[in-house]
Amino acid sequence: MWDFDVVIIGGGPAGCVLAEEIGDEVSTLVVEEDREIGKPVRCAGFVSERCIKEADAYESILKQTSKIVIHSPKRSVVVNTKERLFVIKRDRFDQIIFKRAVKKKKVEFELNTRAIGNDGNTIFLKSKDGLKTVRAKVVAGADGALSNVARWFSFPPVSKNLYAFQPYIPYNKEEVEVFWGKDITPSFFSWIIPENGIARIGLASQENPYFYFKNFLNRFTDERLKITGGVIPIGARKKTVKGNVILIGDAAGQVKPTSGGGLYTGIVCAKEAANAIKEAIFSEDIKRLSNYERNWRKKIGRELYFGMLVHKMRCRISDEGRDRFVSFVSRYKRLVEDNADIDYLSKIAKKIWRYPAAWREILHIIPPYRFIPLMIRSIFR
Ligand SMILES: Cc1cc2nc3c(=O)[nH]c(=O)nc-3n(C[C@H](O)[C@H](O)[C@H](O)COP(=O)(O)OP(=O)(O)OC[C@H]3O[C@@H](n4cnc5c(N)ncnc54)[C@H](O)[C@@H]3O)c2cc1C
Repeated sequence: MWDFDVVIIGGGPAGCVLAEEIGDEVSTLVVEEDREIGKPVRCAGFVSERCIKEADAYESILKQTSKIVIHSPKRSVVVNTKERLFVIKRDRFDQIIFKRAVKKKKVEFELNTRAIGNDGNTIFLKSKDGLKTVRAKVVAGADGALSNVARWFSFPPVSKNLYAFQPYIPYNKEEVEVFWGKDITPSFFSWIIPENGIARIGLASQENPYFYFKNFLNRFTDERLKITGGVIPIGARKKTVKGNVILIGDAAGQVKPTSGGGLYTGIVCAKEAANAIKEAIFSEDIKRLSNYERNWRKKIGRELYFGMLVHKMRCRISDEGRDRFVSFVSRYKRLVEDNADIDYLSKIAKKIWRYPAAWREILHIIPPYRFIPLMIRSIFR
């Protein structure tokens, strides 16, 4: 039986950032079921500069691209955001964080090892060498969208899971493209993220994801491609700390419901988790873990809540509404370009609020919706 202060299940960005942040002071074991950190890749790898900075992973950048084309069924608009946006090499991104974490004095990694169950604080691990057990004062579930840790410790669910598919296609354009329409996918959008001569083309949906994905892909190619898939959990869990167990990243549902992006949010939350864990271990007062719950929600909770309201509206808007929204963006292009922020979408909503004509237009576009007052309140609270 191993004894550690902290066992982290999952060596994705959230788990590795947590290990890096606590690893000089607190004995930590990170358990990762994959043989290699960062692989297989299940990500479009489109992030803000803020995200790269939080992860200190500049070497993962493949290209900067702030030109986004938004398509609705009948209209298109090209937006050149002032915000610097990046296409990253996702496996390199994860490995950069891992390499820093593994150098920390008190961190050990067990790769190719799966956490298969628990008995209270004791976690059972399975690797090619057989079964092992580890006991820890704190158990951190950083085990992604389909978190076993969340299930073992009966955490409340995320609001919904979206299912995504994504292959590469040959592609020579430079700009990111986003496609929005009921026929594309009623509950989300599809995307093309260019690399160099190729692009990641993907789609996420709550219902019939593969059907919508195939329909969309057929517009571009009928070749047989290697397709990766993944789950995007949106609407954070109502609770992310229970006794000595915490959840971070996708496991906690800390994902932006507007874009499905969870790298920035997961990393921010992992840093908050690190502070709370160190406090709890040093003071020998496990109750202090609950500071994590309060602090991550203070940092990004309202933004995720706002995003969830936007997502719910997006699911209900008609195709005509989508066309009108794209026309709206064309008319207020400057405002959108100057204020777009993919991590904090509520900022632009707050800006638009200063233009009554713009808001009146928005309120005509979005369907009558009982959450509108909540949304307005969440922007200004
Ligand atoms: C198709 C797709 C496109 C995306 N595009 C973007 C994007 O452009 N930008 C963005 O910001 N986000 C994007 N995301 C979301 C982003 O990939 C996730 O938010 C991010 O990976 C979450 O990091 P994490 O560390 O919480 O979880 P993960 O990266 O999922 O890591 C969890 C780790 O836990 C391991 N694990 C799970 N169970 C066990 C177990 N029992 N024992 C041991 N190990 C275990 C897994 O192997 C995995 O390595 C995308 C997601 C998908 C599916």
